[in-house]
Amino acid sequence: MSTPTIDHVINGRRRSTGGAPIDVTDPATGAVIGVISAAGQAELDETVELARAAFEVWSRTSLTKRAAVLFKFRELVAARRAEIEQAISAEHGKTLPDAGGEITRGLEIVEFACGLPHLLQGTYSDQVSTDVDTYAYREPLGVCAGITPFNFPAMVPLWMAPIAIAAGNSFILKPSERDPSASLVLAELWTAAGLPDGVFSVLQGGADLVNAILAHPGIEAVSFVGSTPIAQHVYEVGSAHGKRVQALGGAKNHAIVMPDADITETADQLVAAGYGSAGQRCMAISAVVAVGGEEETGPLVKAIAERGRRIVVGPHTSADSEMGPVISPQSRERIISIVDEAEAEGARVVLDGRGLRVAGYEEGYFVGPTLIDGVERTSRAYAEEIFGPVLVVLHAKDLDEAIAIVNEGPWGNGAAIFTSSGAAARRFQREVQTGMVGINVPIPVPAGSFSFGGRKASLFGDTHVYGREGLLFYTRAKVVTSRWPDSALRPAASMAFPSEAKH
Ligand code: NAD
Repeated sequence: MSTPTIDHVINGRRRSTGGAPIDVTDPATGAVIGVISAAGQAELDETVELARAAFEVWSRTSLTKRAAVLFKFRELVAARRAEIEQAISAEHGKTLPDAGGEITRGLEIVEFACGLPHLLQGTYSDQVSTDVDTYAYREPLGVCAGITPFNFPAMVPLWMAPIAIAAGNSFILKPSERDPSASLVLAELWTAAGLPDGVFSVLQGGADLVNAILAHPGIEAVSFVGSTPIAQHVYEVGSAHGKRVQALGGAKNHAIVMPDADITETADQLVAAGYGSAGQRCMAISAVVAVGGEEETGPLVKAIAERGRRIVVGPHTSADSEMGPVISPQSRERIISIVDEAEAEGARVVLDGRGLRVAGYEEGYFVGPTLIDGVERTSRAYAEEIFGPVLVVLHAKDLDEAIAIVNEGPWGNGAAIFTSSGAAARRFQREVQTGMVGINVPIPVPAGSFSFGGRKASLFGDTHVYGREGLLFYTRAKVVTSRWPDSALRPAASMAFPSEAKH
C-alpha cells in the first residue's frame, strides 16, 4: 500500500506538488504514515496572489456576514472534533483526551473571534474643533502567514487564523511538517463554513518554505510559534523584509513550591504539568524550585516521584495511556543524553524513564517520566529546554532566592508558585519576569479573552497572540479627521498650523 500524500490547500482545494518529500511518522510505532511534498516558490507565489485577490473581497464583506462564517466554523469544529483529535494523536502521539483539550482551548479563540462586530468597533469624537469630528478604527493588513510548531497542531493555528480572518485578512498556514494533517481538516471546515476560497490556505513544507514566506513581498505579517533560535531568525529576517512579526519561542517554566504548600495536591499538579503530553508543551513545568530545608523539600520530591511512577505510558490507541511518546528518535536520544549528563555531574535521578520499553511498541519513541534532583544551573538539564518528560528540581533557601533563580534564566514564558500565603503569592506575581503567572495553577495559559505571550527569549516582537493583542497585531489604525462646515459660517482659511484658539 502506498503512503498517503498530505496535501496543500490552495484556493479551497487540496493539491499535492512534486516538491521535496518529507515523511510523517507515528511516534508510537516509528512507521511512516504520510508524506508531504514541500511547496516551492511557485506554489507560494500562486497562493499569495490568490490570497491577495480573496482579501480584496473578504475585507469588504460585512461584519455580520463575517461573523456568521466564524459562528458556523465554531459549530463545525465542535461537531468534527473526534476527527481532528484522531489526526493530531496519530502524528503527534499525544493521547486522545490531550488532543481534545487542545481543541477546546482553540475553540475559545474562535468564540472570541465570533464577537468581531463588537471587537472592531472604532471610536468617535464629535466636534473636536469647530465643525470637525475625528474617528478612529482599525483596518486589516492583507495577506498574513502563520508558521506553527508540532506540539499543538490544532490549537496554535487556532490562536492565529480566526482572529486574522475575523479582522478581514487572508491567512496562509504553514503547519509543522511533523504533524500536518489537522490543518487539512481545519481548511475543509473553513470552506464548509462559507469562507471564500483563498482566504485560508495551507502550504506544507519545512525551513525552505519558511524562508520563502519571510522574503515574500506580498505577505504583510507573520505569526510564528516554535523554538527560540528559529523564533529569533523569523523575527529578524521577517522584520528586515518590512513585515510585522510576532515570534513566540521556547521556554523553561519554573514552579516555586513554598514550604506551606499542600504537598499531595502540589505534587499531583506538577506531575500533570511536567509529564502531560510527554513534557512537550511550551507551558509545561520543567523546573521545580523547592524552597526550604531537606525536611520540607524531601517529602515533595518523594511525592512527585511516587505519583510520576504510576503514569501509564503508551500509544494513543490504548484508552489506558496517560502519556504518549516524544515526537522523534532524535528527540528521544537527546533527552536521554541530557539525563545521562546530569547524572554524571552528580545530580540524583530519582525517577528514571530512560530505559522504558512499551510492550508491542518497541520501535516507538517512548521516554518514561523522569525526575532529577539537585541539578546545577550550569547543567544542560537546566540550561536547555529539554521538551520531554523530565522534571528537574533545584533548591532555594527562601522566596527571594527562588524568584532570583527564575528571573536569571533566559526565558520568560510562564512561572507558577504553590503556596498558602497570599503575601508570598503577591510578591512573586509582582517580581517575577515572565509574561504569564500561575498562583496555585501550574499551566497559566490565559483564557481566550486575554492574550498569550512571554518575555525575553520566549517572545520576539511586541504583541502577544490571540485576545485583544491578537486583534491589534492583525489590524492597523486609521484616524480620520473630517470637517463639514456650515457654509453660512465658514471662516477664511488660515496659513497657520491647524488648531483652535483655546481662549
Ligand atoms: P521548531 O522551531 O523546530 O519549528 C517550528 C516551525 O519552524 C515549524 O513550522 C518548522 O517547519 C519551522 N522551522 C524549523 N526549523 C526551521 C529553520 N531552520 N528555519 C526556518 N523555519 C524552521 O519548533 P518545534 O520543535 O516544532 O516546536 C517545539 C518548540 O516550540 C519548543 O521550543 C516550544 O517551547 C515552542 N513552542 C512555544 C510556544 C509559545 O507559545 N511560546 C508554543 C508552542 C511551542
